[in-house]
Amino acid sequence: MANPSLLILAGDGIGPEVMAEVKRIIGWMGAKRGIYFDVSEDLVGGCAYDAHGVPLTDATMAKAQAADAVLLGAVGGPKYDKLDFSVKPERGLLRLRKEMDLFSNLRPAQCFDALADFSSLKRDVVAGLDIVIVRELTSGVYFGEPRGIFREGNERVGINTQRYTESEIARVAKSAFELARKRANKVCSMEKANVMESGILWREVVQEVHDRDYPDVELSHMYADNGAMQLVRWPKQFDVIVTDNLFGDVLSDCAAMLTGSLGMLPSASLGAPMANGRPKALYEPVHGSAPDIAGQGKANPIACILSFAMALRYSFELGEEATRVEKAVEKVLADGVRTADLMGPDGGTPVTTTQMGDAVLAALDASL
Ligand code: NAD
Repeated sequence: MANPSLLILAGDGIGPEVMAEVKRIIGWMGAKRGIYFDVSEDLVGGCAYDAHGVPLTDATMAKAQAADAVLLGAVGGPKYDKLDFSVKPERGLLRLRKEMDLFSNLRPAQCFDALADFSSLKRDVVAGLDIVIVRELTSGVYFGEPRGIFREGNERVGINTQRYTESEIARVAKSAFELARKRANKVCSMEKANVMESGILWREVVQEVHDRDYPDVELSHMYADNGAMQLVRWPKQFDVIVTDNLFGDVLSDCAAMLTGSLGMLPSASLGAPMANGRPKALYEPVHGSAPDIAGQGKANPIACILSFAMALRYSFELGEEATRVEKAVEKVLADGVRTADLMGPDGGTPVTTTQMGDAVLAALDASL
């Protein structure tokens, strides 16, 4: 059987630097675990614009559609700030998300014990935290019509429309329940059914999908404003949270920051199942191209490494190997290895991007 295919789009700025460490881990998987991927690489973002005049070519788009998973570094940078909106680096990423129809955005908030003091919350509130926010990504108020700024009498009025169809809600709910089954089997759905009709429909459809197909998963519902409070009060009460595009945007940033540095945060965006039954998928760190530190060997590669771990779990059914990578990261942090973004006020000597990669590889070796 052919090896599973992985398209790597390292992108701009620190993208290629953090991706280099992931490529070493992919090599390790082959050499030490006999797990091989059919890896190809291509351009996205500013580097694609430099080479082809567009941030994503049709050929690269086709490769992404055909791959079992896409792993992206980051796009953008000051060099491209003045470009026309239609060819800005971010448009490459948006095109991938749109054309692959990636409707389910998974944002884990996981707090490694060694970094618990990095959170703005108390250690006991965040230590050991491991939750995932599933955000609907392709519909809702960011896309609904009518939208625009219109004149009404003597003043202007800004309009956006929250709109969800049953099928859009059902598919993201299904994605959350499937995820919960691979974790602690608990889903909390968040909306504002008290004041929004789209929230009433959201609640009803999530409940219907649950009762029909996922009765074994524990389901609760919460108003999103209360959800925000509960996330800060006692986040460990949650396992999987599923919510719409707008609430998910806000709640996932809030949850992610419970855990400390941007350099630690992975994400996955999943679409409909492909012929092999697995979802179309794009994995990427939450951070951007960090032009302020690009080319200096200072970038933390962990967010990108953990994004690859998510790919192992959700695209390649290699949950044990995903856990192995996550445990290696945990060990490295427990041993006190820190890139500059993870240095506490006490100082110390930070390691470089490559040295962090070396440490993760050594921890992987030690796991055998
Ligand atoms: P950013 O995430 O690139 O950087 C924010 C801050 O966090 C910077 O100080 C940076 O040095 C630091 N940081 C980020 N990742 C880090 C890492 N792995 N290790 C250590 N420190 C890290 O956000 P920004 O500065 O607002 O944006 C810079 C560029 O990236 C812009 O062009 C923006 O459009 C683009 N961007 C791209 C993505 C993406 O590709 N998904 C996401 C956000 C921003």
